[in-house]
Amino acid sequence: MARQGILIVVSGFSGAGKGTIMRELLKRYEQYALSVSATTRAPREGEEEGKDYFFKTREAFERMIADDELVEYACYVNHYYGTPRAYVEETLSRGRDVILEIEIQGARKIRKQFPEAVLLFVTTRDAQVLKERLTKRGTESPEVIGQRLKRAAQESEGIEEYDYLVVNDELEVCVEEIHAIIESEHRRIRYNMELVNKVREELKRFSEGE
Ligand code: 5GP
Repeated sequence: MARQGILIVVSGFSGAGKGTIMRELLKRYEQYALSVSATTRAPREGEEEGKDYFFKTREAFERMIADDELVEYACYVNHYYGTPRAYVEETLSRGRDVILEIEIQGARKIRKQFPEAVLLFVTTRDAQVLKERLTKRGTESPEVIGQRLKRAAQESEGIEEYDYLVVNDELEVCVEEIHAIIESEHRRIRYNMELVNKVREELKRFSEGE
């Protein structure tokens, strides 16, 4: 019985470690597929086209919007970010769980379009750790770090819209916690109706004296 793929949204403050968590989750479990977003921001050192992002000009991104090629998109600290539609739809239909690592405006749009999506929010235990990680990463200017922290403060107001909170203290624990959450989603009755109906049929036949 092929199981149905679940759409998972993972959001979290910049610097909360989402990227590392996602890489580890994908390495451990084949059931997950990470959607690669399109963005107008410039590649960071080491980032690859088609692996980390599809890097686009503003014009190309706006064309994707006009052609309805994105399931959702948002503006984050002066750049566009969006989720390509085709990959999400095809991968879900093949039964894999698709993870979208996106910010809160995108998460809201996904919730509207896919009410059964599971929304997870990743945080650190305190804000000091976030600031330190952003500074240590050294990929953003102090000005951009400031903007990202301001954005984090705004995003923290929307946490109640998510289903689950995951604290990234220890990578190992955090990855297994996320996997456990998604596995419990798969146990929901609505994803298991094929089995339920099969057992119902069998019981009916037994009770009719077969
Ligand atoms: P970064 O520039 O650090 O890679 O990403 C900045 C923010 O954009 C992060 O919060 C990330 O989750 C979010 N993001 C990445 N891709 C998408 C996307 O396709 N849609 C939306 N709405 N947000 C995205």
